[in-house]
Amino acid sequence: MSKLLIVGTLAFDAIETPFGKTDKILGGAATFIGLAASQFNIDAAIVSIVGGDFPQEYLNLLSNKGIDLSGVEIIKEGKTFYWKGKYHNDMNSRDTIVTELNVLADFSPVVPKKYRDAEVVMLGNLHPLTQLSVLKQMETKPKMVILDTMNFWMDNALEDLLKVIKKIDVITINDEEARQLTGEYSLVVAARKIHGMGPKYVVIKKGEHGALLFNDDNVFYAPALPLEEVFDPTGAGDTFAGGFAGYIVKTRDISFENMKNAIIYGSTLASFCVEKFGTQRMENLSSGDIQKRLQQFKSLTQFEIELT
Ligand code: AMP
Repeated sequence: MSKLLIVGTLAFDAIETPFGKTDKILGGAATFIGLAASQFNIDAAIVSIVGGDFPQEYLNLLSNKGIDLSGVEIIKEGKTFYWKGKYHNDMNSRDTIVTELNVLADFSPVVPKKYRDAEVVMLGNLHPLTQLSVLKQMETKPKMVILDTMNFWMDNALEDLLKVIKKIDVITINDEEARQLTGEYSLVVAARKIHGMGPKYVVIKKGEHGALLFNDDNVFYAPALPLEEVFDPTGAGDTFAGGFAGYIVKTRDISFENMKNAIIYGSTLASFCVEKFGTQRMENLSSGDIQKRLQQFKSLTQFEIELT
């Protein structure tokens, strides 16, 4: 079976949206990526770090989904990474209120031996040097390395971020971050500039406006499913990336054509993630739910037009 190696945060999140707020709940980039990828019944592992305050039930939740956690370090006397965010009324933009790195500040990831030959590596949002260290531990060259990042690292570790971007195949980034990284307003020009930094494939996420996949002159666009209710967009980007990566691992096909399907799967899974607070919706998702929504996606985007 192909393997997926995921590195990213396991976190406590506190979230405020126009619909309500939560105290510290389960969050983190690796959590959302793992939950999405587990839908494909693949061999996936998370490399991360938590403090002694991280509940065992959160770890059980992930391992019960078949995710290997042997690469998760537990620092008994340490505190888990904590993030607090507040969404604006449009639900598309948010402010970070608190970022406490805690145990993440001194994290030296160790990739379990079994996953040093993983075909696909998903570098979730983390310090770029941590992402780089994971890549350096791979014993065989992965078929695909996907990287997700955010403005926090552009502000705090740009030079290191550019180093890791040089070494990857696919970058997933949101529209504002693509603009910040390149200084370009046009996303087409921004994607071209990002190609120049290294990645052959650039995925630009536009929240409720879908996602764009660029590969040189090829472009593919997937809308986001129009939803009646969006409760909490936290983790949608990670869920998208986890769905994308999981689909690639499952199908073992890294062609542009197959990546289009991966984008559709990513968008479909992300559409569930936003329906409830935190990981709630992703914890209880059946393959029937997913198939139904894929069908909705198909109907949304399919049309027959006669070309003259
Ligand atoms: P998303 O909504 O997909 O951008 O991801 C939200 C998740 O990212 C939350 O669960 C947070 O715990 C996590 N997160 C927020 N800030 C950071 C950061 N600076 N580094 C790593 N993970 C973060």
